[in-house]
Amino acid sequence: MNRPVLLFATTNPHKAMEIQDILGTCFVVRTLLDYGLGGPEETGATLEENAEIKARYAYERTGLPSVGEDTGLFVRALNWAPGIYSARFSGGGDRDNREKLLYLMRGERDRYAEFRTVLALYDGRDVRVFRGVLSGRITTVERGEGGFGYDPLFVPEGYDRTLAEMSPQEKNAISHRRRALMSFLKWLVREI
Ligand code: IMP
Repeated sequence: MNRPVLLFATTNPHKAMEIQDILGTCFVVRTLLDYGLGGPEETGATLEENAEIKARYAYERTGLPSVGEDTGLFVRALNWAPGIYSARFSGGGDRDNREKLLYLMRGERDRYAEFRTVLALYDGRDVRVFRGVLSGRITTVERGEGGFGYDPLFVPEGYDRTLAEMSPQEKNAISHRRRALMSFLKWLVREI
């Protein structure tokens, strides 16, 4: 069967790999990197707005139906920060973001957090939004070498290992990203 091409408006190779693992049997997954494109500025006030900005950006440059993806880590004890500012939390990279999070959470007993992923599909006419959430808790030290971003600090509910201590297959079987992608697939199956 010829798999249709689906463009994801991301330049993050980790995300691209995860999406490829999850959707690779149904679609040929492409990203902005395949088209030599950078990403747009994330000027939205919500994950939904940012996902739509990314989807429109990719569609306008390629003419292909495009999926924008935006993810954030929402920590209850921090009044749900860093949220949409997850990437820009410390002003540095992933390691600095994790250090800042651990610092702000020192001595905190309430360690509940959620990863939230929003996908926006834009086909030149309509925007459709899909969501996925993974509940868990923030560790007190980094654990694990896998994954990316905040993974070494996040233990999903019902587990005792961080996402970074899991294999890619284990993470991709339960992740916020998978849940959002499955919601998208279910909608697609109903549509066709
Ligand atoms: P964005 O969706 O690319 O804007 O990413 C927001 C921030 O969340 C970045 O700092 C990413 O590293 C982080 N992030 C996104 N997805 C994940 C994930 O699946 N695990 C851990 N961190 C993530």
